[in-house]
Amino acid sequence: MTADRRGILLVLSSPSGAGKSTIGRRLLAENACMAPSVSATTRPPRPGELEGEDYHFLSRAEFQAKADAGEFLEWAEVHENCYGTPRAPVETALKAGRDVLFDIDWQGARDVAAAMTGDTVRIFILPPSMAELKRRLYARAQDAHDVIERRLQRARGEIGQWGEYDYIVVNHDLDDAYAKVSAIYQAECLRRQRNPWVAQKVADLIAEPMETPTRVR
Ligand code: ADP
Ligand code: 5GP
Repeated sequence: MTADRRGILLVLSSPSGAGKSTIGRRLLAENACMAPSVSATTRPPRPGELEGEDYHFLSRAEFQAKADAGEFLEWAEVHENCYGTPRAPVETALKAGRDVLFDIDWQGARDVAAAMTGDTVRIFILPPSMAELKRRLYARAQDAHDVIERRLQRARGEIGQWGEYDYIVVNHDLDDAYAKVSAIYQAECLRRQRNPWVAQKVADLIAEPMETPTRVR
């Protein structure tokens, strides 16, 4: 499905465990014209993660070769692993008027926004508390204890980057947070600059003959 407007690059960032993947999955399920940007990473797959769906899992050497060849729109080192956004699928989607959802950190978000000014919308998801963030990371049970502790150490620094973002949503109640993210997306779709067809629509409305004159008393 193609939209009759310019595509949106919607970035969701948060400290690990705040809920961006959960919210992102729901957005993708409910919006047929949105596709995920599948990042490349040197981190090993978590249980249940699929190659090409969650990430493209690469060795360090493979990742470096792609970075050197300019195949990434941006890349960064996060939690001692490399993560990068493949450039080609993003460009293809934008040309086709489709939206792309990114689950990337603040450095990547900054680079994507700089490379694609005007197309990028950045949303930062905050946890309701650091204690709840820790609880969610342990409840997710997908990372080893030391990995979780390192992620929690990093969380304060990541939260400190909130000023880079267009919108901030606290994920306390999942339905409420999802509704807010969805509302931001819907509103951004309606932005005048993304809808070049409006000029013609307005010209047609103005030119439309009024068949029955309305009497105003
Ligand atoms: P992230 O992608 O930011 O690392 P996830 O989406 O994987 O985070 O969420 C981390 C864990 O917290 C998951 O187990 C998820 O089901 C849970 N979770 C997400 N949002 C909420 C919420 N509002 N309340 C309680 N648990 C949540
Ligand atoms: P995780 O290992 O939990 O999947 O991701 C760790 C962090 O890396 C998250 O903050 C996630 O948003 C970020 N990340 C994932 N893919 C990319 C990417 O392509 N580029 C950048 N800059 N960060 C990414």
